[in-house]
Amino acid sequence: MLVCPSCKRLLKVRYGARRAPACFHDCLRRCDACRVGYSNALEDPAIIWEDPCQNLPEEMRSGALDAVALAANVHNRNSKRFRFGFSTSEDAVTWVIFGWLGRQGQDFLADNLARNLGLVPGTKPKVLLWGAPLGNDLTARPLSQGLQKVSTRLGERPSFRSEPDIILDFGDAGLAVIEVKVNSGNISKTKRRKFGRYVRSEAFADPKGTIDGGGYQLARNWRIGWKLAAGRPFRLVNLSKTRECQRQKFEDCLAQTPSARFQHLRWQDFFRIAKNPNQWPEWMIAWLDHPHRLKKETENAQTPHS
Ligand SMILES: [Zn+2]
Repeated sequence: MLVCPSCKRLLKVRYGARRAPACFHDCLRRCDACRVGYSNALEDPAIIWEDPCQNLPEEMRSGALDAVALAANVHNRNSKRFRFGFSTSEDAVTWVIFGWLGRQGQDFLADNLARNLGLVPGTKPKVLLWGAPLGNDLTARPLSQGLQKVSTRLGERPSFRSEPDIILDFGDAGLAVIEVKVNSGNISKTKRRKFGRYVRSEAFADPKGTIDGGGYQLARNWRIGWKLAAGRPFRLVNLSKTRECQRQKFEDCLAQTPSARFQHLRWQDFFRIAKNPNQWPEWMIAWLDHPHRLKKETENAQTPHS
């Protein structure tokens, strides 16, 4: 029997369909007083907060739902907002880390990360989160408009636009698209017809192989970033815990050049390269230190006690 994560009261299982919750009231185990419950999975259920902000560290609550409300995929916004309240939410991890970095002035992104990606360091990037300017930065608006144009040219409908997790535009130094993964994989069974518009392009050496491989999100982001970079250096970065074995197959299907490359970045390396001069705040490490988030990966981010 599960207890409420907040008041520790025992939670009786309610009658109802044991399906993936589409709203808080679909949770068969929930505490209405604390407005928190569990997903209906029998093993290792996600904790679900009715107010998604309760899933975040206090320091990153302001601005969070505004960012979700600006996400490029309009059709998906409500569901994105609901899932933001899950302890397993990748979007919440993306927001807490990159939202915080954005507030630090992006020096880390300009230097350490650019260098690590083989881009000329030094230029502070314009940053898009889910296709919208991070922190409502007006100077990033031309970039989000550029992304919309690419989306329209690819035949995406206005309410169903692709929203790469993070886009960093370093100007002449290049452009990076980051696909953030926490616990899910990159390879999924996606309907083949959805692929077509993205892979019929000079950006792919083997369009059919790409479709067969099933890396739909990555393929989409590769095409969009390629187009948005418009000949400048381009990196598609897959930020995740481990290297998936099928990823090599995906990589082989791309028309990589010395200038346009696919790159895997492990979370633990991400935290390490970002460690100096910026220290990660303790509240963030404490929040990430959860089995549904980046418990093991943050070891390098912790400040050693002297
Ligand atoms: Zn409770």
